[in-house]
Amino acid sequence: MSQVHLRAALNAIPTYTPGRSVAGAIKLASNEMGYPPLPSVIAAITEAAQDMNRYPDNSSGALGRALADRFGVSPDQITVGCGSVALCEQFIQATCGEGDEVIYGWRSFEAYPILTKVVGATAVTAPLLAGEALNLPALAAAITENTRLIFVCNPNNPTGTALRTVELQAFLDQVPPRVLVVIDEAYREFVDDDDVPDGIEIARGRDNVAVLRTMSKAYGLAGLRVGYAVAAPEVTTALHKVALPFSVSTLAQAAALASLESAPELLERCQQVVLERARVRAQLLELGYSVPESQANFVWLPLRDQSAAFAQHCEVAANVIVRAFNDADAGGVRITISRPHENDAFLSAAASFPR
Ligand SMILES: *Cc1c(COP(=O)(O)O)cnc(C)c1O
Repeated sequence: MSQVHLRAALNAIPTYTPGRSVAGAIKLASNEMGYPPLPSVIAAITEAAQDMNRYPDNSSGALGRALADRFGVSPDQITVGCGSVALCEQFIQATCGEGDEVIYGWRSFEAYPILTKVVGATAVTAPLLAGEALNLPALAAAITENTRLIFVCNPNNPTGTALRTVELQAFLDQVPPRVLVVIDEAYREFVDDDDVPDGIEIARGRDNVAVLRTMSKAYGLAGLRVGYAVAAPEVTTALHKVALPFSVSTLAQAAALASLESAPELLERCQQVVLERARVRAQLLELGYSVPESQANFVWLPLRDQSAAFAQHCEVAANVIVRAFNDADAGGVRITISRPHENDAFLSAAASFPR
């Protein structure tokens, strides 16, 4: 047994569980894009590899300017991170010390509790509504003197549900200006309901609202690790202070830039996913499953104590790996929407699951 003195707080922190990859299986467990990078993106990565003896641009300057241009914000409002999960941690580090509080709905993105506790902050959660959507009034009611940060995941991972403009505005109006709200829009590009607000638009004129997005999902670069935050300049400065130096690689910056240049083609793929999402949900409803309406690239089956058995069945019956979350009262299964033949394999397993 090692005698090393480790932080006692770590005993209460779960290890992040990624979606499983099984050789030869159809992986619908991590909300990845089911298509490989475009040839132009691979060419940009290959060319950037020539400079691998040099450190990356620590400020991701060219990429930051391209993002600022695209969204009509100032470059001093953009932070590029090693995946948006790194930026989640930077937001917590920038706002919280020991004992400060971070609020989020539950279930939501599993990294929130881990990152909150690693930094030594206190997690405060509010359960989802009966339809699996975030309960904004409950999040607002949880605010105390010690609250520093609120994560609002929209659409919510893993339930796929999305907040509408009026309710989100009303919530933001109730949050004191000293509390930072981070709207995590990892799945923004899959939203097709005009009444689901664009966080970057809703954050204009609100200095305590920041938006988090990623190149991992819609842009298909999960393996390269690039995410970005749009925030007030003072918040952006703080995010840069707590960043791990050089964590966004030269390859990642080049691939993200090339992907933004090919955005129309890549976003067209997202529209295919949106069409498939409607098809998969309709078939699941027909099979008798309860399926909340999703605005993301996955659907959620709130199967509660049947979740593990369902995931096991998908693997055995159709060689499909889905993601089960096994808590007793908030558990369910999240299934990524991918290419049609992969979705069909999943649907065949859902049809043969004995219930
Ligand atoms: C996938 C995901 C992220 C993290 O994406 P990165 O790959 O780290 O950019 C962040 N937030 C939510 C809600 C996600 O689902």
